[in-house]
Amino acid sequence: MSVITVGTMAFDAIETPFGKVDKIVGGSATYVAYAASNFITPVQQISIVGYDFPKEEMDELKVRGVEMDGVEIVPDKKSFFWSGKYHIDMNTRDTLVTDLNVLADFNPIVPDSYQGAEFLMLGNLMPKIQMNVIDQLKVRPKLIVLDTMNFWMEIAMDDLKEVLKKIDVLLVNDGEARQLSGEVSLVKAAKAILKMGPQFLIIKKGEHGALLFHGEHVFFAPALPLEDVFDPTGAGDTFAGGFIGYLAKTKDISFENMKTAIIVGSAMASFCVEKFGPERLKELTREDIDARLNEFVQLVNFDIDLV
Ligand code: AMP
Repeated sequence: MSVITVGTMAFDAIETPFGKVDKIVGGSATYVAYAASNFITPVQQISIVGYDFPKEEMDELKVRGVEMDGVEIVPDKKSFFWSGKYHIDMNTRDTLVTDLNVLADFNPIVPDSYQGAEFLMLGNLMPKIQMNVIDQLKVRPKLIVLDTMNFWMEIAMDDLKEVLKKIDVLLVNDGEARQLSGEVSLVKAAKAILKMGPQFLIIKKGEHGALLFHGEHVFFAPALPLEDVFDPTGAGDTFAGGFIGYLAKTKDISFENMKTAIIVGSAMASFCVEKFGPERLKELTREDIDARLNEFVQLVNFDIDLV
């Protein structure tokens, strides 16, 4: 069993009410890989970096079972760069800079050794590239999950709508669900989006948890109430990595199992926000993850006697 992850491997500059970093490793595929590799290996990475991306970071990922055969290194260009500033509530942020750099002419080639993967995580990236990867797979994976963001809706909505027809699960935040559907109500937005292709829709609501929609069914996973949220960057990708990693580990893609998978995604995301960049994810042990999952069980467990 293996998972292919596609996305950016990047440098970020981040400003939150608690601090500022000018250059830290980030990128959608980086966070997905750190999270998913706790549950399943190999994680087969597809991305592109420039001459400046640290070799130590690649090595750190490799040690965790992340394969790099699909990561192209461009010797004369810089890695993708993103900069964002969070508002005081940390649920909203402004993108200050998106420098595509190497991403501008990324033409991914799926290595032969990745063919036959049963799970595909299309992390946040140009929709055309996400489609290109699907088209190269000789056997359709059992589950295709796609994450995207407002940036791509603004500049490539038509391409995004094409790729949505080919996937099973879409992950977006509440603002993006509204932007994609043109509906204000999230329930109406979900109905409209589920007609666009995916059978499952996850709407992330930051510190207010996540909703899973499928047909007429809805399930809600809370976010863990944390005393300190340091940096929410990558929380969405970490959620995605936990979600697909758990599904791949359990080999069960039913709605019932997806309910547990979004709790696992929320648990992984709750670690991510505790430090800048992917730092906290690098420290995690199996015991940390199990203890956090237990906190989630306690958070939502209650009895009721109906009178
Ligand atoms: P998240 O906070 O989960 O939305 O993910 C933030 C990460 O996504 C950062 O590490 C960025 O490098 C990366 N990122 C930001 N904008 C984009 C974009 N337009 N396409 C792909 N990755 C992006």
